[in-house]
Amino acid sequence: MRRIAMLNQKGGVGKTTTTVNLAAALAGEGHKTLVLDLDPQAHATLHLGLLPGRSGPSLYEVLTQGVPLAKVRREVAANLFICGSHIDLAGAELELIGSVGREVILRDQLDADPEPFDFVLMDCPPSLSILTLNALCAAREVVIPLQAHFLALHGLSKLLETIHLVSKRVNRDLKVSGVLLCLYDAGTRLGGEVIEDLDRFFEGRRNATLPWAEARLFRTRIRRNIRLAECPSFGQSIFQYAPSSRGAEDYGSLAGEIQGRDPAPVWMTDAEPRAATAAPADTLEQAPVAPAGHL
Ligand code: ADP
Ligand code: MG
Repeated sequence: MRRIAMLNQKGGVGKTTTTVNLAAALAGEGHKTLVLDLDPQAHATLHLGLLPGRSGPSLYEVLTQGVPLAKVRREVAANLFICGSHIDLAGAELELIGSVGREVILRDQLDADPEPFDFVLMDCPPSLSILTLNALCAAREVVIPLQAHFLALHGLSKLLETIHLVSKRVNRDLKVSGVLLCLYDAGTRLGGEVIEDLDRFFEGRRNATLPWAEARLFRTRIRRNIRLAECPSFGQSIFQYAPSSRGAEDYGSLAGEIQGRDPAPVWMTDAEPRAATAAPADTLEQAPVAPAGHL
């Protein structure tokens, strides 16, 4: 079983979109996949078509009342399951103050769960709270979704420091497996600069004993694609909503890369990102509006 936390304390970088659509891609390949929605905003829950609070207990009851994951889990598509969130989760931090071992409740629940999942993907809230700590203690891998803008690396040191502390004190198995560029605008110079900055950032901090010793930038990048922004309101993954969109292509590619396969052909080159775009860079830069369906 692979347990992966999608983590970045910033909001709007693509954590939920990645959790849901990567999970759907893996489930579509036949892997039994579980999404754990740890964000009180319940976006992943909604994205997968459930109404928070209407479909029985949520991770709130798992974390605060010891309800087992099996009682909360719902199957939303073939091989695809979710333990949903609820706004009450926002109060879990306060409710758990003073309870011993509160950061390992989710880990213990997962360990006790008899269901043999191939992948467990955890959608984290945009904070370094007790909910995020539970994800970091339950996970073995962290994927950091980033948006390629000029403040992308701001806060990354703090995030890595937290991961380091958790790996040192509670979860020795924890590794950062990679950084994923989301909402990626192919053909922009900024994307290239952020990639260089990231490489420098990780090179400068690499050390075999640190949890990000093997972290890499995924070759797959998730392009900005309007279909990805639309599908949550239909309660569908991109593979249900727009299976031939670029969003579906990119998340399908990521699912392969996470399993050690080559990314989709569009991401096979290591050259400058502009060479990786399907359309010539010039066309993209000059086009005032990108062609419909390709945004
Ligand atoms: P986070 O979970 O980190 O807060 P989300 O995954 O919710 O981020 O993404 C923030 C917003 O951007 C959402 O409205 C989402 O639909 C949209 N979005 C995410 N990824 C893309 C993408 N590749 N292209 C277009 N819109 C996207
Ligand atoms: Mg989110």
